[in-house]
Amino acid sequence: MLKLLLNEVLQPLVFPLYCVSFWTLVGLLLWSIWKATRDGVARLRRMHQIPCDRCVFFTNNHHLKCTVHPSKAMSEEAIGCRDFQPHEDATSTPKRCSQTSARSRIPDKRTKNKFPFFTR
Ligand code: SF4
Repeated sequence: MLKLLLNEVLQPLVFPLYCVSFWTLVGLLLWSIWKATRDGVARLRRMHQIPCDRCVFFTNNHHLKCTVHPSKAMSEEAIGCRDFQPHEDATSTPKRCSQTSARSRIPDKRTKNKFPFFTR
């Protein structure tokens, strides 16, 4: 009786059940990837609304990020900050100390020896 039940009733249902469960899992995987991507893009757009990297009060120093609002600089609280003052060149980001120092632009003796085309 049990053998008859397995062969006649359950055997034809195995393959359709397998297909349905497989495609359900594939669908859930694709849906979770889509949802994670959509949430990531929304989060990224929100982060790009933070204006601090274009503000004159932003120091680019992790000890004191902003001289006006140190606690809310580079956070979502800074979106719509009333003290935001854009740089003269609003497209540029603040330079690090090593990038702006005049010493880094003047080649030293070691650089001269390595690169003879420097004339200074
Ligand atoms: S003043 Fe406002 S916008 Fe400017 S760096 Fe500070 S928190 Fe950011």
